[in-house]
Formats: sequence, C-alpha cells, structure tokens
Amino acid sequence: MAYRVGAAWSESGLRLLDGKYPLAVERYVLRQVAHLVPGVTTVTPHARYYALHGLVAAEADARGLGSAETQELLRRCEVVLAAASHLHREDHGLHGFPQAHGEGRLRGLFTAPTVDFAEAVRPVKGGYTRSRWGFLPPYQTSERELGILVSVPGSAGRPGPGPRLDLRAVRDGLGPVLELARGAELRLADVESHVEQLCVCRGGAQPDGRWLAELLCRAPEDGSDEAGARRRETVRLLTRILDGHRSDRPVEQAVGEFLALDPRMAEGGALAGYVRAADWRGLAMRNYSVTAWRRLWSWLVGQAAEGVHQAEWADRFARAVPPGTVGEFWDALPAPTAGTGFGASGGGIRPEEELAVLAQGARWAEELTGDTAIAFNGPSREHGQELHPRWLAAHLTERRGLPLAECARELAVILLRRSARVALAKSRSAPDGRLRLPTKLQQRDTFLFTRGPEGTSRVILRLNRLAYVLAGCGVLAVDARSWRVTDLGRDLCA
Ligand SMILES: [Zn+2]
Repeated sequence: MAYRVGAAWSESGLRLLDGKYPLAVERYVLRQVAHLVPGVTTVTPHARYYALHGLVAAEADARGLGSAETQELLRRCEVVLAAASHLHREDHGLHGFPQAHGEGRLRGLFTAPTVDFAEAVRPVKGGYTRSRWGFLPPYQTSERELGILVSVPGSAGRPGPGPRLDLRAVRDGLGPVLELARGAELRLADVESHVEQLCVCRGGAQPDGRWLAELLCRAPEDGSDEAGARRRETVRLLTRILDGHRSDRPVEQAVGEFLALDPRMAEGGALAGYVRAADWRGLAMRNYSVTAWRRLWSWLVGQAAEGVHQAEWADRFARAVPPGTVGEFWDALPAPTAGTGFGASGGGIRPEEELAVLAQGARWAEELTGDTAIAFNGPSREHGQELHPRWLAAHLTERRGLPLAECARELAVILLRRSARVALAKSRSAPDGRLRLPTKLQQRDTFLFTRGPEGTSRVILRLNRLAYVLAGCGVLAVDARSWRVTDLGRDLCA
C-alpha cells in the first residue's frame, strides 16, 4: 500500500484576490454606524421581512415544524412576497422602493400564470436564493436584537417567535402569504388580488407595519433598552431631516451631506437639541476623509494600469497637485458648505480635490470642539494612527513650508507601504498551499501593476436603508422621491 507522509511542497506563487478595504481606513465609521443604528443594516432594506420572518417562526412553532420544513415554508413565503412586488412593479418603482428580495431572479417564472413552488424555492445557484434559509440570514441578527425572533436550542437553526413579536398584527397584515404559500403552485391571479395588502412597499398601511413602527420608535415599557435608545434618537433625527425633503439624489448622499455640512447641524444650530445630532455630524464629516483616502488610492492604483516604475507613479501624483507649498494649499481651502460639491462623488477622480477634502478633515480634527469633535476623531488611542485626520494634521503641519508636490510624492509611498501591510495582514494560505493576497496593486521589485480598478465607494451610513425601512412600516411616506413624516411617525417620534 502506498501512502505519503510528511510535508509536501506547496504550489509556487501567489493567488491575488480582490480586497474590500485596501487601506483599512473604514473601521471607525463602520463601527460607529452599527452603534448608532442597531437593528437595521445595509442588507435589511425591507420592513416587511422583519414581520414575515416573525410570522413564519410563529407558524412553524404552532405547527411543530422541523428545521427543513420551516426552511421550505420560509422560502415559499418569500417567493409570494417577490410575486406581489413583481405585480406591483409599476406603482412600486415610482417611490424608489427597492424590489422584494429575489424578484429579479424570479421574474422569468412570473411570466407564466402559475409558478411551480418546487422550482421557485430551490436554494441553488441561479435560484432566487442560494440559502436554505432564504433571506433570513441577513435579517436575523437584527430580528433577534429587536426581540422578533429567538434562537431555539437544539432546533438546527430554526428560529422561534421572540418576546416582542405581535403575532396578531403580523397575521392581520401578512396572513394571506401563508395561504398563498400552500399547495404545489402559486397562481399569480390570486396574488394579484392581494397586491395592495402584501407588497413590500405597502406595510405602512397594514397592522404589521404599525407594530414594527412602534418597535423601532417607541421605548419598551421596562425602559431597559440602551441600543434601542440610540436607534430611536437616530430615527428622530432622520425623520426630522427628511420631512419635506425632495431630492433626486439618493437619501444616503443628500442626508450625509446635510449631516456634515448644513449649519442647522452645528452645535447651537436648529437640530442641536437632538441627542444624537453631534454624533451623526462628526461621523458624516469623518466619512468624507475616509472616502477621500479610498478615492485617492483608487486613482493611484489606476495610474499603474499599464505597469509603471514606482518613482514615476509617485511623480504622477506630484504633477497632479497644484504648485505652491503645503501651507499655502491648506490655508487657501474654502470652508465647505452643503451644495458646493465638497467631496464630489460623481465623475472622475481629481487628486487635487481628494487632497483638499483630506486637508479639510485635518483642519476639522484641529478645530472641532465638544461632542462633534469626539464623534469625528473617535477614541484617543486611534488619533496617532497613520491616515487618521489628526495624524494628517500633524503631518501637514510639519511640512507647511515644503512644496505640495513633494508632500504628495511622500504620501504616495506611505499609501503604497500601507496597502502592502494591509494585504499581508489579510493574507491567508489557500488549500494548495499558495498564499492568497487580497490586493489590486501588485509590486514586482520597483514596478507596479494593477489587476483592475480599485473601489471608490463611500462607507454606507445606512441612512438609505433606514429611510426605506421606516417608509415600509409607515413612519415615513415617500412619493416620487419626496419624503414626509406620516401622522403615525409624528406621534412616535414626538
Ligand atoms: Zn410595491
């Protein structure tokens, strides 16, 4: 019998992958957003799934279903919601509401008068979901935090109904989903007659929406809900800002700019009485710096698309900034105000603009006071860390008299070294023994090459998600991108 023992040679070379955060400057903003909006994340856009998952958990409990049967019931119900959203798509799109989960992938099946459940609910590649638990996984942490679901020990992942689930409300709102989810086939004509009740955008007019609105916005009677208090204050602030707001820009962008730059947000301004206003202002300001580092890095990576010597690469950055000294550039920055294109996110990247945003962040690091300064700078142990706005302020101060071009050349090298360290810290060994290195920029001696464009997106503040969750449960109403607070919302957020 032949067998091998001991070590074997691994395959040679590196496996390069795409990394998400190449400069690792995002952590503080990500952490703070999670702190300020517990219960709503970037992957939970629909209020109605909170109610649906609660309903399914209660139904499975009542019927004594096992894990596999509950998975099937859940996926059937999600297919019904997707069908309702599909049939409502014309009205639905008017409000900018996102479609139900999986609607795009199921669209082909919805062209026939009936849908075969066995086919529609298969958790396979190319299906509406690849997860046996459908879209429960992205929501379930939030649903547990909110008390809608609980873990059931020994149930192989089957959630149970939580203490704050109002079964009557979710049944009154979404009961027909359970009816439609029975049988071998889903008749779209049957869904059609329930569209106004069941679509993901209609929860605000239904009992389950009202229940969820109270859950998100009203303190529990025992008052012991610190995380919930942060969310409620965030909701109060967001509803106040969005009331009467009309914009063709996404909520995230428009509100993010308002939070950071509108004078009403400043301490002593009209919104200063909102408990979380300073937290959000500082965070939204900090996100400009984070985004500018990401965009500047993306531009630098793009400069190596054809392969370039490292010195020439750094020189390109130096040539892209204005003449004069660091001090002249820094002192000449105009005060940023909303609507002036500060931190412009569209179009091509201009290194000079990104550098201006970063220099403004360094100025904020020195000039902000009070709670806004605390929220902007984060924990003091991080202030000295490379690329922190305070680090940059000290870095620029030391170089005030130097040409800006020289400072840019030096920054390029700092970023290059940092990205290499970040990629190494995130590297893992692959099953074949090769090292997996998450990087878009490849270094070979002093030459640089890229594997494709680097991301430029800003860190999501979850405001768009939160706005649509609030619209999905009737706290806000949105009509052709014009937002208002409903009577229910006024009552809950007073
Ligand atoms: Zn709809």
